[in-house]
Amino acid sequence: MDLKQNIRSIPDWPIKGVVFRDLTTLMQNPEAFRLSCDILYDRYKDKNLDKMVGIDARGFVFGAVVAYRLGIGFVPVRKKGKLPHKTIQQSYTLEYGEDTLEMHEDAVSPGEKVVIVDDLIATGGTVGATVKLVKQLGADLLECAFVVELPDLKGRDQIPDCPVFSITEFQ
Ligand code: AMP
Repeated sequence: MDLKQNIRSIPDWPIKGVVFRDLTTLMQNPEAFRLSCDILYDRYKDKNLDKMVGIDARGFVFGAVVAYRLGIGFVPVRKKGKLPHKTIQQSYTLEYGEDTLEMHEDAVSPGEKVVIVDDLIATGGTVGATVKLVKQLGADLLECAFVVELPDLKGRDQIPDCPVFSITEFQ
């Protein structure tokens, strides 16, 4: 199964010059979706993780499935204004625009072993902000995982102290 063949590419969306890698087509294919989640499950099944931290919004899809299979908790990192309890915040720059991410301040306890997951790493701004949030709460961050990496945008450089795992790449 070639996972990349199940990812739809949309030129000039949401702005001119960006090729949007649409993972809804991967998610709606049962074999491709299951394989993506199984690759992540197999990678972390022996790592004694406490929580998966998923990034708003497509990181929730993969992160929640993998957390369920691992039998551990899931923590959502959300766009500003969505979480109801006390939060910590971090602003970041996107490939297109700027935004703020939030996490509940009691979502992760000091020393808990976590992995951050999102559908895609582009410039690394989003995951960079998430790494700061998770570290602010004192978590033990094992690595950040993505279904897709866009290596040309050098997103890894935003999180030099954190290993990055990606299932597929688009040049
Ligand atoms: P970045 O902060 O630049 O690494 O962007 C990563 C976040 O934005 C992820 O949550 C992605 O879902 C989304 N994103 C950024 N660029 C793209 C792209 N070219 N195709 C699909 N999603 C993207």
